[in-house]
Amino acid sequence: MEYIRKIEEEIRKNRINVDLEKIKNAFLLAEESHQGQYRKSGEDYILHPVEVAKILIEMKMDTDTIVAGILHDIVEDTLITLADIKYNFGENVAEIVDGVTKLKTLPNGTKDQYENIRKMILAMSKNLSVVIIKLSDRLHNMRTLKYMPHAKQIAIARETLDIYAPLAHRLGIAKIKWELEDLCLSYLQPEEYQELKRLVDTKKEEREIYVKSTIEELKKYIIGEAKLKVTISGRFKHFYSIYKKMYEKGKEFDDIYDLMGIRIIAETKAECYHILGIIQSKYQPVPGRFKDYISAPKANNYQSIHTTIIGPKGKFIEMQIRTEEMNSIAEDGIAAHWSYKEKANITKKDQVYGWLKGIIETQQHENSQEFVEEFKQELIRESVFVFSPKGDIVELVSGATPLDFAFYIHTDVGCKCIGSKVNGKIVPLEYKLKNGDKVEIITSKNAKGPGNDWLNIVVTNGAKNKIRKWLKEKKYSENTKLGKELIEKEAMKLGLTLREFEEDVVVKKHLEKHNIPSIDDFYFQLAEKRSKINVIIGKIKISIDKEKELLNLSNLTEVSNEKRDKTSKKNDYGIVIDGTNNTLTKFAKCCTPLPGDSVVGYVTKLTGITIHRKDCVNFKNMVKIDKAREIEVNWDSSMLEKKLNKYKFTFNVFTKDRPNILMDIVTLVSNHKINLVSINSTEINKDGNRVMKIKLTIDISDKSEYKVLVNNILKIKDILSVER
Ligand code: MN
Repeated sequence: MEYIRKIEEEIRKNRINVDLEKIKNAFLLAEESHQGQYRKSGEDYILHPVEVAKILIEMKMDTDTIVAGILHDIVEDTLITLADIKYNFGENVAEIVDGVTKLKTLPNGTKDQYENIRKMILAMSKNLSVVIIKLSDRLHNMRTLKYMPHAKQIAIARETLDIYAPLAHRLGIAKIKWELEDLCLSYLQPEEYQELKRLVDTKKEEREIYVKSTIEELKKYIIGEAKLKVTISGRFKHFYSIYKKMYEKGKEFDDIYDLMGIRIIAETKAECYHILGIIQSKYQPVPGRFKDYISAPKANNYQSIHTTIIGPKGKFIEMQIRTEEMNSIAEDGIAAHWSYKEKANITKKDQVYGWLKGIIETQQHENSQEFVEEFKQELIRESVFVFSPKGDIVELVSGATPLDFAFYIHTDVGCKCIGSKVNGKIVPLEYKLKNGDKVEIITSKNAKGPGNDWLNIVVTNGAKNKIRKWLKEKKYSENTKLGKELIEKEAMKLGLTLREFEEDVVVKKHLEKHNIPSIDDFYFQLAEKRSKINVIIGKIKISIDKEKELLNLSNLTEVSNEKRDKTSKKNDYGIVIDGTNNTLTKFAKCCTPLPGDSVVGYVTKLTGITIHRKDCVNFKNMVKIDKAREIEVNWDSSMLEKKLNKYKFTFNVFTKDRPNILMDIVTLVSNHKINLVSINSTEINKDGNRVMKIKLTIDISDKSEYKVLVNNILKIKDILSVER
């Protein structure tokens, strides 16, 4: 019962409003299940979940997250199942525990390790509680790392410094970030760490006295004179950031002037600026050391005013000015938003969360290692803040160019970008944006769009992916068109239209056999030379030849008169095709032949035989390509006499434009007892005059009927001519 009291005490201390009963029940289940298990330190295992819960409570998390924190190792290490958890603590808790359970650390340096991190990142994007528990879990494991074997210490510390600390930073959880970094340093660079500790300790007292006296001075100005309510405290840099300045930037310990700082917590945002004014009037500010993160918050929502001043005795000292709420966000980051219930903060939580989701959506790597490496880069990237022409703040990674900005605004803006202005002046697209730049993108409808060189200009993954996608789509549509043209040419040689080709069974089977999802993909592959055009054309040729052979075979068989009669009967169109019983005939739309016209047949692969007029221009062109496709056909005279068949026939009437002309024609046609299928008129330019072209389609039995009709149409007033 000693442990549960620790949890209760932590809840009381942090004054959070949670379901104590539920938390207690979780603890009892965890305690019972972990019974007989011990940590490497020799302590009861239950101590670990309890410490994790305490870290979560300190961050003021909600009941379910704390409960899941207590239960986070239970499914992995005991007989309790996820279903048990769901039954006892509800769906939400089970979901969080499941997320954490899936993220057990695998052996280091293997592909599995990357896969594990990738899984964690994906799980995070689904439920933020999972990552906050994971960070708390890692923090306690780092705190107790000394009980692990040396090799494991190094591996775990490395992974923590690479992934978990930057993640905590990006989510704004500064408290966890600092502690993780310092702990990592003590394992990864133990000598440097001890040296730093010694340096910090030697002048510690001196620095503390200095900070204290400066605070007293500030209180006099701010509380005493300006009568503002504030809390002022001193703060010291954590080891890892001193280490980075010394060992990575090559600075001497004594040159690091911001080892100490002072934090001023004000009641309102307006007072923050008031206090800034007071400080800058009393002390001399250090140029270039002023940052206003209140009006332009950092990516992780960090808000504060920073200003470094020359304090008493000429020493540099950094001041941070912020409100209570800003402070809690600065320390607990995204976790702080759990305790602020106002709408504004939920939106802020979504913003930081949106960043995470954004990264995941633009990640297109199938390889876990690439995914994790890119994610790591995203985590450590610094930001640059620029303004849109409307004055909106846009955050981009540092090093971003106007082109990145354009793609951030919208893919279309990026693709149509032809230039950019920064602060009213034209700059090259390669220009590196600076904080506070006002960026304007010049677009053109006729822009050529992205080229491969653009990939070297942009630095954001979002823009890179959008450009890659655009280039890919462009290449696809260009090559699809090219492949289509190649096929059209070849198909024409075989007497096929593109459509006939696409609908051909041979083609369909070919796509199926080679797993090509669509005809467009097939054209694309042809253009890319991944499929050979000869193959498919060869296949079609073979099938045409087979069909022709069949036709020829039936030619050879002796056709009796009786059979010929039968053939004619079968062919409802009134066409006799040179001895074959092929009834697959249709009339060409280009020349609409009528009985009495001299006609000719053209063998097509799919639709059998098409009947054209002998003088049809289309037909002449087609036979030029393949003479073998011409076939002799005749009208069946016996059928024509009986006028059994009606043919769809189209012709044009040219007339002056006047009222009622259409009506006159329609009436005339109907007086001839001829069925009018369709009629439409357009105004055209004929021999330099504007005339009406009326296109009529009628059902008619033969040419003589048409002749009579034409003679009568020509008698109507204002008719210029009738043409087929
Ligand atoms: Mn754990």
